[in-house]
Amino acid sequence: MLYKRSSQLFADAEKVIPGGVNSPVRAFKGVGGTPIFVKSAKGAYLYDEDANQLIDYINSWGPMILGHAFQPVIDAITERAKLGTSFGMPTELETKIAELTVSMVPNIDKIRFVNSGTEACMSAIRLARGFTGRDKIIKFAGCYHGHSDSFLIQAGSGLSTFGTPNSPGVTQGTAKDTLLANYNDIENVKALFEANKNEIAAIIIEPVAGNMGCIPPVKGFLEDLRQVCSDNNTLLIFDEVMTGFRLAKGGAQELYNIQADIVCFGKVIGGGLPVGAFAAKNEIMNYLAPIGPVYQAGTLSGNPLAMAAGLAMLEALNQDTEIFKRLDEKTAYLENGIRKVLSNNNVEFTVNRVGSMISVHFDKGAVVDFKTAKNGDNETFKKFFHGLLNQGVYIAPSAYETWFITDALTYQDLDYTIDAIDKVSKEL
Ligand SMILES: *Cc1c(COP(=O)(O)O)cnc(C)c1O
Repeated sequence: MLYKRSSQLFADAEKVIPGGVNSPVRAFKGVGGTPIFVKSAKGAYLYDEDANQLIDYINSWGPMILGHAFQPVIDAITERAKLGTSFGMPTELETKIAELTVSMVPNIDKIRFVNSGTEACMSAIRLARGFTGRDKIIKFAGCYHGHSDSFLIQAGSGLSTFGTPNSPGVTQGTAKDTLLANYNDIENVKALFEANKNEIAAIIIEPVAGNMGCIPPVKGFLEDLRQVCSDNNTLLIFDEVMTGFRLAKGGAQELYNIQADIVCFGKVIGGGLPVGAFAAKNEIMNYLAPIGPVYQAGTLSGNPLAMAAGLAMLEALNQDTEIFKRLDEKTAYLENGIRKVLSNNNVEFTVNRVGSMISVHFDKGAVVDFKTAKNGDNETFKKFFHGLLNQGVYIAPSAYETWFITDALTYQDLDYTIDAIDKVSKEL
């Protein structure tokens, strides 16, 4: 495949945009080579600036669960745009999407819309702190909750040591309020509670981790977290930016039958436009301004184009009673195919999957947390990535990402992909 025009466009971009990209993972730093510039996309396919067609396994990192340029979403945006694109005043559309969300997701009474998953998680934490009157939060190593200061913290040396910032610009003052725990390790969490009695406002977690590959919660882990939170008057925040409207209509809360206190959304909820949201029961949501003391705002929050896109997407998911089953079946088919060809070619691997989230790790040990996720062989991943790309299959350009399966994929696309993986794995 040729990337002549993409290479030129990347060189042009690098002159005026740091690293040539507006979000770091797009820059191919993890895999080397030139990022591909997209011209258009439809259904399961991307078309790049060099006229290559690619089967897309990222789907805008999740939102395109029903395929690119999904007609009801395109129509909704187009019609809405003719009526004006932003007012900074309430619209009926905001109530409509809020009503639909509240009806689809268990355990929430009210929802507030923002512009990204980052904003949703950042605001959820502020709300939890305001509600509980406590400062500290627990996050899990390897979980991503957007790029706000409190979340850019990596593991310190010991169990109960305070986190150290892993980006310059995050102050020690902020970092000290973020405690780190290992995913799937309830004893670790309990030790943090022991060492920080009555100080922990919230635990925030990806109920299925998706930002260190896909890592399912081990049996009982989410239940235990729920219990620890209830015992300590700490709020449990499910960051469902990735899992919401993907694993089930009601997200991971529904799938695992666990009630979180605050739920964060992004990605699918915006149908491909910039939308995030956070939601909870009345008791908690009424703590927000203008009726409560916790301030949170946004000039473009609830933007009519974004709400129209999100509403069209959620309506489509809500009406299609088979959608999550179909996605699960397609992804299971892909999983089985991958397992078969990698085994046949004697590649050491682990595949993790929950519903339409799947990841391939080049290590034969179980991948259950950030530490084990890091065991994967990155050189093998690079070859795997570029080998697939050369055959027109686009997966995320990083070994730490989940693949997002879209319903637009046909079984023919999946067979083509499995065949491409077979070819690549002979060279690994
Ligand atoms: C993508 C993601 C975010 C951040 O959302 P943005 O819209 O990129 O700010 C937060 N949490 C999780 C779990 C995510 O996957």
